[in-house]
Amino acid sequence: MKEKPIDPVKPVGMDIILYYPCPFCKNKVPIIAPVQPSLGYCDRCHREFPLVPADEKSINFLKLIFDDGRAIIDSTFI
Ligand SMILES: [Zn+2]
Repeated sequence: MKEKPIDPVKPVGMDIILYYPCPFCKNKVPIIAPVQPSLGYCDRCHREFPLVPADEKSINFLKLIFDDGRAIIDSTFI
């Protein structure tokens, strides 16, 4: 029996990815915006380094204006 193709799935949430340069090898490491001081991990040189956290209010503002990602896939969203 042939399975019915699955309709493309819409997002139900979003996060902001920031790029942090690894201080050891300069690799640009993508990290979901941390709102607390935390450690980043470089997958190229396998070392950890401390991150300057993102401002939680700014992150929440972006999630709000993009309706948790729904506005990004819908150009008619206002
Ligand atoms: Zn590195």
